[in-house]
Amino acid sequence: NYTHFGYKTVKTEEKAGRVLDVFSSVASKYDMMNDVMSGGLHRLWKDRMIQKLNPDNKAVLLDCAGGTGDIAFRFVNYVERQHSQFTDHPNVTVCDINNDILEVGKSRALERGVSLNWVCSNAEELPFPDQSFTCYTIAFGIRNCTNISKVLQEAYRVLRPGGRFVCLEFSHVSNPILSKIYDTYSFQVIPVMGEVIAGDWNSYQYLVESIRKFPAADEFKQMISNVGFKVVAYEPLTFGTCAIHSGFRL
Ligand code: SAM
Repeated sequence: NYTHFGYKTVKTEEKAGRVLDVFSSVASKYDMMNDVMSGGLHRLWKDRMIQKLNPDNKAVLLDCAGGTGDIAFRFVNYVERQHSQFTDHPNVTVCDINNDILEVGKSRALERGVSLNWVCSNAEELPFPDQSFTCYTIAFGIRNCTNISKVLQEAYRVLRPGGRFVCLEFSHVSNPILSKIYDTYSFQVIPVMGEVIAGDWNSYQYLVESIRKFPAADEFKQMISNVGFKVVAYEPLTFGTCAIHSGFRL
């Protein structure tokens, strides 16, 4: 069985290992590179994701492919800001396949004095019982997984009825002129930035290719519905460079 690793075709069982190498290699520079490559826009996209999730003070979150905790920290801030009557610390689990990335996240949490649960696991086989969470988020992670449908099935399984799934991911620019500009930027500028700033052309080339290979927004919406989620919808961001897909387990 073969699958895509960017534009390369690799054995399915090799993809997770290769993705692991990519993120281990970018771990220490990961947060800074996000800012540089997106011109800071990823912060606004992530804020919008949490706004859309609009968690209450009883929310129990699983942030999958949670990396260095960007979504988890935003979630905690949001709940604490919106619910001043809040007494307990929000219940948040960050799960990622890569321990190097999680270690960076744990240090950030220590610096901020935020207590989160950190679990190293593949999003395709989560080590949590059925119906453990009320919210499931995944930001810029699902396109790196080998089997997207398995990730979605697992998201559905671990959510309680009434639970919400929200996914932020790169998407496709539909305007042909903007799409050309975006293509030039991603294929010619991002790998160069990766090399100059992080000394790592290949990892950033992979990131660009993986974005191009990810399904279009409507196709992805259908995949989410196929595993059982209801009221599935998406919101394009910044001319369709990204999209927030959401759905409920009813
Ligand atoms: N969600 C974070 C954010 O938005 O800043 C991190 C996004 S980062 C681009 C992608 C993350 O997905 C990496 O930390 C990587 O280790 C993780 N990842 C890749 N494949 C995964 C898998 N199969 N299961 C869980 N995490 C995975």
